[in-house]
Amino acid sequence: METGQIRMCIKHGYFRGEQCECGNHGSFVLNETRATKLGKMLSGLLRHFPHELGLKMDAQGWVDLNQLLSAIEGKYRWFHIEHLFALIESDVKGRYELCEERIRARYAHSVNVDLDFPENELQELYYGTTMEEAGRIMDIGLKPVRQRYVHLSTSFEEAIRVAKFRTDQPVIIIIDAKNAQSQGIKIMNVNDQICISDSIPTDFLEIIS
Ligand SMILES: [Zn+2]
Repeated sequence: METGQIRMCIKHGYFRGEQCECGNHGSFVLNETRATKLGKMLSGLLRHFPHELGLKMDAQGWVDLNQLLSAIEGKYRWFHIEHLFALIESDVKGRYELCEERIRARYAHSVNVDLDFPENELQELYYGTTMEEAGRIMDIGLKPVRQRYVHLSTSFEEAIRVAKFRTDQPVIIIIDAKNAQSQGIKIMNVNDQICISDSIPTDFLEIIS
C-alpha cells in the first residue's frame, strides 16, 4: 500500500508524499491517516465484501460509482469525491479502474468475479515465492489461495520484489504462458506488472532458484 499524504501537483496531478517527482510540493488533499482508511475501505468493498454495505457487484467486478460514494459517505463524514479520485490517480499500482460511472478493483479479489482483461501476450510469466511453497506448487500446480485468481509477475525482477515481502531467499517459478494458454488456460494482463490466471498445472511450470 502506498503511504504518505496525498497532494496535487498542478502539472502532474495527484501524488503520495511531500513532493511530486518534479520537486513541486503542490497543494494538500488528504492526510495519511485518512488516505489509509479510505484505501482499506475501497479495497475491502471492491475486492472482498461489497455486500456488507449493500453494494451490488456485477460479474466483472463493477460497482455503481454513486452507490459506492454513498456507502463511503455513510462511514466517513469528512469524505469528498475528490478524495476518491485522488486516491485512485495517485495509486502507482493501478489497483482501481473507473469507467462510465462505474468502478472496480483490477486485481486481488476474494469475491467470485469473472474479470475480462485482455489475454496475456508474453511468452513467459513469473511467480515469486518461498522455498517451501515452491515445493508444494511443483507438486500440485499453481492454484489461487484465498483469492479468485493466481497473480503472476510480468518480469523476473518484479517476481523477486513481490517474493521479498515474504522471504529473504525468493524462489522463482517460470510459467510457460504461451503453451498454457494454447491449452485453454485463461491468463489475462492486468497492468504492466501483473497478470492473473486460473489454476496452472505443473506441466507449464519450471522452478529456478
Ligand atoms: Zn509535478
